[in-house]
Amino acid sequence: MSGRDPAWDPAADGPGGLPRIAWGQGAYVYDATGKRYLDASGGPAVFCLGHAHPEVTAAIVRQLERVAHGYRYTFTSDALEELTALVGAACGPELGSMVFVSGGSEAVESALKIALQYHSARGESSRRRFISRRRSWHGNTLGALAVSDFRARRAAFEGALTEASFLSSVNAYRPPPGVAPADVAAACAAELEAEIGRLGPERVAAFIFEPVVGAAGGVVPAPPGYARRIREICDRHGVLMIADEVMCGSGRTGTWRALEHDGVVPDVMAVAKGLGGGYVPLGATVYHRRVASVLAAHDGGPLTGHTFTGHTAACAAGVAVQTIIRRDGLLAHVRHRGEKLLAELAAELAPVEAVGDVRGRGYFIGIEFVADRATKVPFDPGLGLAARIGRLAAIDGLLCYPIGGNVDGSQGDAVILAPPFNATEAELEEIRVRFGRAVRAAVASLPAAAASSGSG
Ligand code: PMP
Repeated sequence: MSGRDPAWDPAADGPGGLPRIAWGQGAYVYDATGKRYLDASGGPAVFCLGHAHPEVTAAIVRQLERVAHGYRYTFTSDALEELTALVGAACGPELGSMVFVSGGSEAVESALKIALQYHSARGESSRRRFISRRRSWHGNTLGALAVSDFRARRAAFEGALTEASFLSSVNAYRPPPGVAPADVAAACAAELEAEIGRLGPERVAAFIFEPVVGAAGGVVPAPPGYARRIREICDRHGVLMIADEVMCGSGRTGTWRALEHDGVVPDVMAVAKGLGGGYVPLGATVYHRRVASVLAAHDGGPLTGHTFTGHTAACAAGVAVQTIIRRDGLLAHVRHRGEKLLAELAAELAPVEAVGDVRGRGYFIGIEFVADRATKVPFDPGLGLAARIGRLAAIDGLLCYPIGGNVDGSQGDAVILAPPFNATEAELEEIRVRFGRAVRAAVASLPAAAASSGSG
């Protein structure tokens, strides 16, 4: 490909040859050479208010000037209690209990543990098995990795990961074999019930899923009706529903909980990324009051958490971020402006034959690339199309989130866009223009035969 920039391109510089970040302001970040990038993906869908928001940084500084951290077995704190109230109000009356952690993997890990603890407390300690889905990502700790289907990230640890069940990914654009797009919700829900039956409900602890699949799928919302069906199935068999909203939650899709869109309340939910806006490591495991009452009665509370659980400065950051989102009506903005952004991107990319699907909710948008629109056959992974787009975009001053392997673990190219909730009209326009340019340049850089032959 042409236009390589050794200052940015890792392939040009060797492993680790990344630019050095210097500072950021709003949706823009600057590297040490002074080069400016518009961050169209908020890193990995994290920076929901952009960088250096004066109210957020001031809140963190104010908190740190008071104390380093109030350790959870010694103290509660204003910041912890305020964030609990804010998240509780955002989640609705059933989901008022939570444990704060330092990121998404810890949030998932605690969600899995809370499910196991719940069943043990109810005298059902045979319920140890988790059911998950193919093409899902739940995190890098051993428990979270064991329920993730991300081949490259699991391979080195196979044999040491707890056994889990993996169901078909729920994707109307790529339905399971033999299933019509309109039947995906029903077929995939039936698959869950069949697996619970095969294992025996008395062995199943929980079903974990991403309401909108992020890094492993390239923003894949489940078809209408899916979440309601699995809610019913879980209830019927005493299986807990764990929603992993680490990437799609905290307002990213235009509702605070992604599952709100489906009218469904999970038993346990993991959030992170946007909760603290990326200013500090922060995540939370939020759980239903009927789960909370079991844990409280049997064990006094959840048997999970860490030294930095409820870190005072992290909670202060979360309070500032969530207060701004609420005060400025950013969720409604993301919901409405997101629909328009999706349509604008779809129109921009419609003439590019390699664009197979443009999808998403709110400010969580995925673009999937195919060698043939009719057959949806992916490109040869060796071409690294998504990575090319990411590189060319960055050279042109736009950051996006390329992913590979979304089709089957090795094939597939998609790019995620996840702008800050407070991005300006000019910035959203710049995303459309620069992203379109990067896509066209990357496709044009492919060997001539690639676009017509696919990966075979
Ligand atoms: N769950 C989902 C859905 C995620 O997208 C991620 C991170 N990409 C995680 C869990 C793990 O979060 P973290 O990287 O903060 O540990």
